[in-house]
Amino acid sequence: MSIPKQDIKDIVEKITAFDKMYQIMRIVDPIRKKVLLDQGDNNFIEKEEVCHGFWEKNTICENCISTRAYNEDDTFIKLEYKDNRVFMITAVPIKAGETKVVVELLKDVTKSMILEEEGLRGNIELKYLLDQANLAAVTDELTKIYNKRYIIERLPVDLLTNHLNNEPLSIIMGDLDHFKNVNDTYGHNAGDYVLREFALLLKNNIREDSGWVARFGGEEFLVCLPTTDLEEALKIAERIRTAVKENNFVYKEHTIKLTSSFGVYTVEGGNIKVYEDVIEVADKNLYKAKQSGRDRVIG
Ligand code: GH3
Ligand code: MG
Ligand code: MG
Repeated sequence: MSIPKQDIKDIVEKITAFDKMYQIMRIVDPIRKKVLLDQGDNNFIEKEEVCHGFWEKNTICENCISTRAYNEDDTFIKLEYKDNRVFMITAVPIKAGETKVVVELLKDVTKSMILEEEGLRGNIELKYLLDQANLAAVTDELTKIYNKRYIIERLPVDLLTNHLNNEPLSIIMGDLDHFKNVNDTYGHNAGDYVLREFALLLKNNIREDSGWVARFGGEEFLVCLPTTDLEEALKIAERIRTAVKENNFVYKEHTIKLTSSFGVYTVEGGNIKVYEDVIEVADKNLYKAKQSGRDRVIG
C-alpha cells in the first residue's frame, strides 16, 4: 500500500521544526522496514531502501525503537554505531491524515560519550558495549531512572510533538525538603537510599503511559507529563507530595520522615517553548514552594 503524497508532504512540513537540532532526519515505515524519505542536501529525497541498511546491517535491528515508537505511539531513544561514530537516535511517531510513520532524528554523540572510540572497533565487544552504553547514557547510576542527558534529548522532542498536536505539556520539578539533614544525621548511604526511594515514589505515582521521570541532579527530579494540563499536573504533584509525607523511609534501625516541594509549569497547546525555559519556570515555582514554607506544590 503506498502512502498518499499529500500526507508525506504534511509530515515533511511538520518535521522541518526539528531541522536545526539534528544532523540527520529520516522518515521510516517500521512495518515495511523502509526508508520513505531521507534528508540529503537539505532536501528530502524519496527512497525505497531498507531502514537498517543505513547501519550497514543486513538483518533488522534488534530492539528497533522505530517499531516500538510506531506500536506504542511514544518516543524512544537509543544509541547506534556506524563508521566508528556513535549516534543518538530519537524515534518519534508522527501522523498525517491516515498515515502514521516514524521520524528518526540522528545526532552524532561520539565526542560526548565516555566511550573510547578504539574500543568500539571489535565486533563482538561492540554489541555488549553499545548495550551497556545505551543503558548508561540515559540512566542515572544511583536511582536507575533516567538522567539529565535523557531530559536534554527527550524534553525538546516532547515539547515539539505536543506543539504539533496542539496539546498541553506539563513538567513537575520535585525536591526533598531539608535532605541535607538526612546525610548529616544518618550518613551518606542513608541519603542515597532515600534518593532511590524518592525516585520510586515519583515513578509509582504517575501512570507509565502518561509520562516519564528523570533525575535532574542532586536531589532534584523532573516529571514530564505530555498531553497533561495544569489542573491535572497539580493533582499529580499533590499526590506525590502526600505519598512522600506518608512514607516511612526505613534505613537500618531508623525510620525517617520527610516532606517534599514541587514546582509545576504547563506549556499550553499551541505554544512552543525551548526546554531550558520550561525547566527554568518550573524551577522558579519550586523555589517559591521552598520560600513559602516547603511541603507544598506551586504551579
Ligand atoms: P531544601 O529544603 O532547601 O531543598 O534543603 P536541602 O537540604 O534538601 O537542599 P540542599 O540543596 O541544601 O542540599 C542538598 C544536599 O543533597 C546536598 C548534597 O550533599 C546532597 N546530595 C546531592 N546528591 C546526592 C547523592 O547522590 N547522594 C547523597 N547522599 N546526597 C546527595
Ligand atoms: Mg532539597
Ligand atoms: Mg535541591
